[in-house]
Amino acid sequence: MRGKLIVGNWKMNGGLATNSALLVALLAGWTAPAGRAMGLCVPFPYIGQARDALQGSAIVWGAQDVSAHAAGAYTGEVSAGMLAEFGCGLVLVGHSERRQLHGETDVMVAAKAAAALDGGLTPVVCLGETLAERDAGQTLDVVGRQFDAAAAKLGARLALVALAYEPVWAIGTGRTATPAEAQAVHGFLRQKLSAAGAEGVKVLYGGSVKAANAAELFAMPDIDGGLVGGASLDANEFLAIAAA
Ligand code: PEP
Repeated sequence: MRGKLIVGNWKMNGGLATNSALLVALLAGWTAPAGRAMGLCVPFPYIGQARDALQGSAIVWGAQDVSAHAAGAYTGEVSAGMLAEFGCGLVLVGHSERRQLHGETDVMVAAKAAAALDGGLTPVVCLGETLAERDAGQTLDVVGRQFDAAAAKLGARLALVALAYEPVWAIGTGRTATPAEAQAVHGFLRQKLSAAGAEGVKVLYGGSVKAANAAELFAMPDIDGGLVGGASLDANEFLAIAAA
C-alpha cells in the first residue's frame, strides 16, 4: 500500500504575514488520516518560518529547487545539506518552470535528484510534456525520456524518490488532464517503476488540481496524490484537496 501524498508548491508567492495565516490554518485543519501525508514546498527565505511553525506536526516542509552540488563557488544556489539543516524533508526537482524558464535539462534534473538524496531529502522528480509534444503524440516518449534520465543516474536509489506527472499544458492554466488521460501516463510510469524494481514509489499528479476535480483524479489506481500549485495558497481549498 503506497498511501497518498499531497504536496503544495507555493511557487514564488507569500510573505511572512500571509504565510503565517496559511500555516496556522493548515495546522488547525489537517488531521493526518492514516495513509495520507502532506508536504509544503515553500520559497527558500521562508523555510525557517515553515520549520518554526510545522516542527512536531504531521506536515513536512521543503523547497522548490536544490543545487546539484554539495558546496562551493555556486553563487545563488542552495545545497541539499543546507535544506536538511533547516529540517526539510522533500524538495521539488525538474519542475516544468525550472525546465522551461531556467533551461534545466534531464541530466541536470537527475543530478539534482541525486544531490537531494545525498543530503537526506526526498526529491519529487517532476515530469511532463508540453502541449506541442502532446499534440504530436509524443507524451510517453517525453515522459519516458525524462524518467529514464533519472533512473539511469539514481540506479537502486530510484526507489527513494517520488515522481510528479505534470503535463505542462495543465499547470496554472485551469486546464486539467482528464482522469483517464492522467491515468494513462501514470500507468506507463508505474510499469517503468516496476521494471526498475521501484514499485513503492509514489506518482503524484499535478496541473490545475482543485477541490472540484481532486477526488476523481485521486481515485485513479496509479495516482498516489497531487502536487498542487495555485490552490495550495488557499488553506480551505488545499485542505479540501487533501481530504479528497
Ligand atoms: C505546480 O506548480 O506544480 C502546479 C501544478 O501548479 P497549478 O496547480 O497551479 O497548476
